Amino acid sequence: MDTRKTIAIIGGGQLGLMIAREAHYLGASVAVLDPASDAPAFAQADRRVVGAYDDIKALEELCEGSDAVTYEFENVPGEILRHIENKYDIRQGIAPLFDSQDRLREKSNARIHGLKTPEFIPVPAIDFIRTEDGEGTLPGNPEFPVPMSAGDASSLSKAERVSQLEQAVSVLGMPCVLKTRTMGYDGHGQAVIRGDSDIENASELLKVPCILEKFVDFDYEASVVMVSDGEKVIHFPIGRNIHTGGILDLCVVPAPGLSDGHGENETGAKIAEACGNFMKSCGYKGILAVELFIKDGDFYFNEMAPRPHNSGHYTIEGCSTNQYRELCHFLLGQPLETPVLLAPTVMKNILGQDLEAAKAIVAESLRGAGPGLRVDSPEYVDNAFCGEAGKGVYVHLYGKTQSRPKRKMGHITFTPMTLEEFNEHWADRFV
Ligand code: AMP
Repeated sequence: MDTRKTIAIIGGGQLGLMIAREAHYLGASVAVLDPASDAPAFAQADRRVVGAYDDIKALEELCEGSDAVTYEFENVPGEILRHIENKYDIRQGIAPLFDSQDRLREKSNARIHGLKTPEFIPVPAIDFIRTEDGEGTLPGNPEFPVPMSAGDASSLSKAERVSQLEQAVSVLGMPCVLKTRTMGYDGHGQAVIRGDSDIENASELLKVPCILEKFVDFDYEASVVMVSDGEKVIHFPIGRNIHTGGILDLCVVPAPGLSDGHGENETGAKIAEACGNFMKSCGYKGILAVELFIKDGDFYFNEMAPRPHNSGHYTIEGCSTNQYRELCHFLLGQPLETPVLLAPTVMKNILGQDLEAAKAIVAESLRGAGPGLRVDSPEYVDNAFCGEAGKGVYVHLYGKTQSRPKRKMGHITFTPMTLEEFNEHWADRFV
């Protein structure tokens, strides 16, 4: 009889794959649910359930016999999880997932719990109140707008959508960013409005409820990954994130601007403290990643994710413990370990357009086949690789069977390496 503890993961993408690997390292077994039969995490799963995220029967099949349930996919319908919440041990609870699924709720929640956000308002507005001077303002406190239901947007005509957006833009001013409240990721479902001529195009997004945010002319972006057991919060060294086309390209640690060379500088320490307090104040447990904009030493909450984060891939080789292992420690009821950065590290995302370059790096290494090599899944030998391809160059390919531009196919961690060294020696190899 298998006496190992079992972690059930809702979602079989690369995050699930890396959670599964750490769960095995800690002696646990893993069950995975994903709608796609070739999902990356299935390569490491002890039990596989192919089914939709909103299929109660499939979810129950996944959770049955598990000791802890976690999610690596953000858009599992909250309503569905409610059905299984009382039957199985969803250790993080569903609150952080629910709070992160709607940008309006997410940002209102961040403010209520002490984090600054860019100014924002919901669009369409429920009802604009005309002030005496004729300016439009929102009902109630514009700092904490009232959420509206998803159905309210679909009935708007094109002219109404444009008019709603014009009014909202006149309240916030330009430049600003319109984002769909739900299901947005990696720059999908958003439009920057810099001038009146952008409004008509952007208003197309208003077929569903949106949020309009002030554009923050930030100096740079950063993220912090935290894990809490409900008592203490540990955090991984803050990463400085460089995006290309709305998708994370590089994560650099220590984050230039937030570190003094030994640890976090004053701004870095403030960020870690504020985000830790936020997590405690919300009562969240398990893992939470917070993405921030940094401007003049000040920081603004952009969004959060109650799952391992793309920027946190660097922790696998860059830190004494990694985000996946600490999540598993939490899920298995084991003590959390405080991570220490081992050396300056750069993580490069491998999107479809970079896959050939990544494979070439692996092939170069295979010719001299070092002991660091590990192929996750024999079926995908060509495409699934996790290992050291050259000194300090760790290539992770997720084994996705279909590659396309902008799809996350893998990542490479370079450590020890600074951003300057990366730019000098490696940047040219990628698109
Ligand atoms: P998001 O999906 O909200 O993380 O947005 C994707 C990317 O768009 C962010 O990483 C930023 O680079 C950019 N972005 C989003 N919101 C804003 C904003 N309010 N001001 C400036 N840039 C933004």
